[in-house]
Amino acid sequence: MSAPNLVGMLPSQLEDLAVELGASRYRGRQLAGWLYRKGVVDLEAMSDLPREFRTALGERAQAALPDLERATPSQDGSQKLVFRLDDGARVSAVVMPDDGRITVCLSTQVGCGYACAFCLTGTMGLTRNLTASEIVGQLLAANALLADGERVTHVVFMGMGEPLANYTALVQSLRVFTDAKLGLGYSPRRITVSTVGLVSGIEKLGREDLKVNLAISLHAASDEVRSRLMPVNRAWGLDPLMTAVRAYPLAPRQHVFFEYVMLDGVNDTSDEAQRLVRLLRGIRAKVNLIPFNDWEGSRFRRPPLARILAFQSILLDAGVTTTVRWSKGEDIGAACGQLKEPALA
Ligand code: SAH
Repeated sequence: MSAPNLVGMLPSQLEDLAVELGASRYRGRQLAGWLYRKGVVDLEAMSDLPREFRTALGERAQAALPDLERATPSQDGSQKLVFRLDDGARVSAVVMPDDGRITVCLSTQVGCGYACAFCLTGTMGLTRNLTASEIVGQLLAANALLADGERVTHVVFMGMGEPLANYTALVQSLRVFTDAKLGLGYSPRRITVSTVGLVSGIEKLGREDLKVNLAISLHAASDEVRSRLMPVNRAWGLDPLMTAVRAYPLAPRQHVFFEYVMLDGVNDTSDEAQRLVRLLRGIRAKVNLIPFNDWEGSRFRRPPLARILAFQSILLDAGVTTTVRWSKGEDIGAACGQLKEPALA
């Protein structure tokens, strides 16, 4: 077993650890400041921590980010970061600058067990959950790559894996990100957790009082189509899913996001758009239509632009805020549903 990683620990856990090592809680708070405020993970560089404390820390724990194996820039300004984890597994994060924002898309698992028919990650199966340290580490590594004075402004859990299937590590990383005093201090409104629709997870997340944004990968407005695309729908169909969504606590102007991958001849008809309008009735919803991103061996295609726009118009006419999300990083295999990294070599 390797030494526990300080990166990803809650500030309160760092304080407890400091006490265990014979120092004061204050030392733990300083440590949190170095890791999360300053993004410094080298214990040697933490100049205001007493030497004995640093030595004791080094004997009990380590502070390390996942190894950044490569950072591939896309023509659109985004970057795909590929990390090699301690066991040789690989995951990626995508950094997307846009309009003054810098959004990072984080992975939560190696592979994914939900096997959505249109998703390349879904063909990998699930290898394992990421630890909170590996999740937080992706964000710290992204910040470290940015120019001085720049930092990630928005976080989306839309990389590899199903966040709500790795619930404990997800919530721990959310607490580190949103802790305003000793953590990274992100407003929960700048953080979005996306799910295939794990009803029990949505209910639990709603009770955490984290106030982060919820995004549902919907992709169809009828159980018949959704079950064909997403096996998870056979366990949790649209009825229980929408009930859980309606119960998710929202702040005054907060919305629930719905992702809808546009698949030629599958879910792009005007009938389906009208069904979607009915399904979303009474929900403060924002819909993101994602034109399908192709991958080798997939059996789907992106609909013609006119059909995507017609679908959008039906929603807009019904008063549903709807944008078409042209994925970033398609040229570098970083677009939605394109994340897959070989484990070896
Ligand atoms: N497992 C979570 C987090 C992944 S988010 C979830 O499903 O929500 C990634 C988003 O990209 C999901 O909405 C997913 O359905 C979508 N996606 C998957 N494959 C895609 C593809 N080939 N083209 C466009 N979007 C895709």
